[in-house]
Amino acid sequence: MDQHRLSEHVAAFVKFLQSTGRISFDVPSALLGHAYLLYGVSERKVSDDGVLLIGDAAGLAYKQSGEGIRPAIESGLLAAQAILGAQRNYSRESLSAYGKLLSQRFGVGGQDWASRFGEHLPSAWIGALGRRLLGARWFVRDVVIERWFLHANEPAL
Ligand SMILES: Cc1cc2nc3c(=O)[nH]c(=O)nc-3n(C[C@H](O)[C@H](O)[C@H](O)COP(=O)(O)OP(=O)(O)OC[C@H]3O[C@@H](n4cnc5c(N)ncnc54)[C@H](O)[C@@H]3O)c2cc1C
Repeated sequence: MDQHRLSEHVAAFVKFLQSTGRISFDVPSALLGHAYLLYGVSERKVSDDGVLLIGDAAGLAYKQSGEGIRPAIESGLLAAQAILGAQRNYSRESLSAYGKLLSQRFGVGGQDWASRFGEHLPSAWIGALGRRLLGARWFVRDVVIERWFLHANEPAL
């Protein structure tokens, strides 16, 4: 998410892989970027006349962990719910209920408290605060693993 000197880091990493013999082929100098879309970053329409997008096509991966399997499965279930609710009328208006189901499940715009808080801080402060928090066992266990990765606080669909 933070593109600060990203291409420089990627170029150095590719050079390291080549110099240590881990890859023997040429890698394009401009890599394409993130392999899939994160929730809140994508501005794709998730429904239209006769169409619903789920999972990566809709851009639903969690921002903090980059995990997209659970949102892909859950959005499939919500899409099925929207299709049943449409009662054979698959117009844009009728299927727009799906977008609302996604917002109810994943939040509006994918903004969580940490991202909102971080938007107001200079990046140097975020780095310092992040290092401190990631050094605290309770934060890593309760927030990073339980909430951001496992989403253990969210009831199953
Ligand atoms: C390297 C990597 C590691 C990842 N690690 C994790 C992880 O640890 N945990 C996690 O939760 N998420 C992880 N993700 C993200 C996760 O894989 C995706 O978010 C998730 O698979 C999205 O599911 P999906 O069903 O939307 O798409 P996909 O799983 O990509 O399924 C789409 C399917 O459609 C098929 N397809 C494409 N075009 C056509 C066509 N024209 N006709 C027919 N079929 C077509 C594709 O072959 C594919 O099988 C990772 C992703 C990558 C790239």
